[in-house]
Amino acid sequence: MGDSEATPLMRQYRDIKQGYRDAILFFRVGDFYEMFHEDAVEASKILSIALTSRDKSSESPIPLCGVPYHAATSYIAKLLKAGRTVALCDQVEDPKGAKGLVRREVVRLYTPGTLVDSEFLPPAESNVLVAIASHCRASSGLKQVSYGLAWMEVSTGEFSLCELHGDRAASALRDELARLEPKELLYPDDTPDDARRWITEISGPRCCSQPAGWFEFDAARVQLQEQLRVHSLDSFGCQGLSIGIQAAAGILRYVRETQPSASLDHIRSLRVHRPGDGMHLDSVTIRNLELVRPAGGFEAKSGQAESTLLAVLDRTVTAMGSRLLREWMLRPLLSCSAINARLAAIEDLKDQLETRVCIRSALRTVQDISRLSSRISLGIANPRDVVALKVSLSSLPALHNRLRQLTAPLITQLVEAWDNAEDLYELLEQAIVHDAPVSLRDGGILRDGYHPGVDELRKASREGKGWITALEVKERMRTGIESLKVRYNQVFGYYIEITKSNLEKVPTDYIRKQTLANAERFMTPELKELEERVTGAESKLVALEQELFEALRRGLAGHTARLQDISHRLAILDVFAALAETAAVNRYVRPLVDESSSLEICQGRHPVVERLDLSGGFIPNDTNLDAASRRLHLLTGPNMAGKSTYLRQVALIVLLAQIGSFVPATSARVGLVDRIFTRVGASDNLAGGQSTFMVEMTETAHILHSATGRSLILLDEIGRGTSTYDGLSIAWAVAEFIEDPQRLGARTLFATHYHEMTQLETLRGGIANYRVAVQETDGEVLFLRKIVPGGADRSYGIHVAKLAGLPTDVIDRAQAVLTQLEAPSPLPRPSLDTQQNFQFDATLPKPHPILDEVRQMDLFAMTPLDALNRLADLQRRLAEE
Ligand code: ATP
Repeated sequence: MGDSEATPLMRQYRDIKQGYRDAILFFRVGDFYEMFHEDAVEASKILSIALTSRDKSSESPIPLCGVPYHAATSYIAKLLKAGRTVALCDQVEDPKGAKGLVRREVVRLYTPGTLVDSEFLPPAESNVLVAIASHCRASSGLKQVSYGLAWMEVSTGEFSLCELHGDRAASALRDELARLEPKELLYPDDTPDDARRWITEISGPRCCSQPAGWFEFDAARVQLQEQLRVHSLDSFGCQGLSIGIQAAAGILRYVRETQPSASLDHIRSLRVHRPGDGMHLDSVTIRNLELVRPAGGFEAKSGQAESTLLAVLDRTVTAMGSRLLREWMLRPLLSCSAINARLAAIEDLKDQLETRVCIRSALRTVQDISRLSSRISLGIANPRDVVALKVSLSSLPALHNRLRQLTAPLITQLVEAWDNAEDLYELLEQAIVHDAPVSLRDGGILRDGYHPGVDELRKASREGKGWITALEVKERMRTGIESLKVRYNQVFGYYIEITKSNLEKVPTDYIRKQTLANAERFMTPELKELEERVTGAESKLVALEQELFEALRRGLAGHTARLQDISHRLAILDVFAALAETAAVNRYVRPLVDESSSLEICQGRHPVVERLDLSGGFIPNDTNLDAASRRLHLLTGPNMAGKSTYLRQVALIVLLAQIGSFVPATSARVGLVDRIFTRVGASDNLAGGQSTFMVEMTETAHILHSATGRSLILLDEIGRGTSTYDGLSIAWAVAEFIEDPQRLGARTLFATHYHEMTQLETLRGGIANYRVAVQETDGEVLFLRKIVPGGADRSYGIHVAKLAGLPTDVIDRAQAVLTQLEAPSPLPRPSLDTQQNFQFDATLPKPHPILDEVRQMDLFAMTPLDALNRLADLQRRLAEE
């Protein structure tokens, strides 16, 4: 440390900075937040602000940069975006009353996962913080790791946990992370190396280790019980859980550390997720079906955010609704009754157009009550937030009236114990002006009549201003200067301004304060006295308004549980109304969801592709799968025919049905599906050390290990990344495995360009061939996009290559090579009968007649010489050929 740091202020800075080494410390000095040393160097670059130095005359000046305190938010946002965290250090006592150095403390640590400020948060997206605890035990010589996962949205107080055990715990954890898309991930600093390695490899969230003590079980349980105000966590369904609880406590502790001055009263409940509560969607399927993000990510397909299922469905009008819809979409239901209950609610709203329109228009005035109530509870809501809450509450009675016209059980449940919060609305209506400012600094927050003290001070301030106006008139008369003005500014307060040309008329009792180019400014004892009265009243008024507003906010914080309940009801209602609206606008129908093993879709459509501007319009297709009979449909057809679209369309229809939404078809019967698996297209994970083919096989292995007879499996192009025979053999064996009811027997759509596989239809009772029809006229191929029974025998790959613009030479040569390859081969080709491999197939070219002769020779009835003669004869005939 250089000498220049030996000042008391810099010593205070150094002591505080020691506790926040990883963060950029915003150190409040007067009206600025200042940054020093390496923080200043880094922040000045990221924020594009000037880097200067403190104590320039010293030998080792300290690098310094600063931002005005009232504009700090936008600078913090920039630093967070650049992946940094910010510790906000404020003066925690009034500098006027401080003896010596003002006391300073870090009042908040801004990290990506703990944000609560509306300026930083996209309204329709959750901002999730997760913590992972792991436990490793050896079982029959093998190491098995279980994971506890907890997640929290600090801005709404939603708090959940789950535990993942067994062989596939790590992959289940990855899937959960893909669903949650956390912004920040915490793990204990004693996490074993292998778990730590893959945790830190996860891209996206900021990953940081935290003291292992925060995750210690006994302390964890006590901490959670205290926060949630219960004697036992069993009331939240935590029976038998341990590592989940440890992860949850890790989160809670982190949130407390980052918001040391906030009460966390808005975190009042904990949801335990157990396997089977909802359909587990793996990360590959979430990506392949483009549920929430386009397949290549936003960067890869900028401008195509619309191409996701969420974008098509999301007609919600509130931020809470939008977030809830995403949550529903990524966790479809597994209970027929729960699905049908949602369907009934949507049907009710779909059928009652006027009611739906009124509900949606009332919901449009509802703002993010969930985040607003958290901000109120955390003591950071500003006057405008509180007005937003009032406006939101104003819609409740109208919504209540409308909802009573609906009869679906889930809607009647919403109406039961409905809270119009009229008391809160009235209170806010009387207290706060409708155009309240964002800041508490300048007053103007409270309505006249709300508090006598405020009214009195306002009167004093108004009267004072009147006196000042009167003084101006009086002084003009006294001096005879028409242009005399009484003005005010922040630095000098009130003054009398007289232009240079009138200076000779200035009375002797005027005291000069400032000289300008064209005018001079003066003070009089009378003006000084009036000023004291006015500004005294004004500063008292601001302080009183601030105090009263804070009291009002504390009062509202006492209603957090009510506000959270209201917000939750409105979110559900918004999602129902949105899904009803989508169903009506996009012509969806109510699916029949039951426990059967069938999947019958009539005139199904792809919800996203059908909305594209396709030249011939979207061609609907039927599906008729049944786990009990024709469970595996083998789909062949040309490139570009629409196979992938069809596969995804079936998956999306099932997914929609199981979130309780209507579906794009003319009718649909969906026998409950426990999981949807997809293996679509090729992707590399070169960074993860896996080739394209390895990724393909890993995904296939995962499906074969995890699927059950109730699953829906979509396989597009298995075995394409290797040699033809290896690929065909793998595809063949995979199809047999899935079709076999003893081994899997799952409903499956299997698209392939291996036309040899169509033979499976005759060999396995559960397999049926389908193809995408094309029409060929004069060498041109017309894609009909229609799925029809039967197998295809050509892929028209060269035709598609021509469409893609491959040079004519290459196309011609490819055509010639193809003709040669397709010529009958003298060699027998293996057919893969399941009973006995490598039999000969009648459909393939006939085996050579000499082989038949050899087979028929009775060697035991021949002498060695006869045998030698026959052999010589056969050899001669072959030579002649
Ligand atoms: P490949 O075998 O080359 O991967 P594919 O058979 O899987 O091709 P898709 O990618 O599904 O073909 O479809 C190709 C294009 O055809 C899509 O981009 C879409 O625009 C259009 N398409 C697919 N299905 C339909 C349909 N049912 N109606 C209208 N257009 C469709």
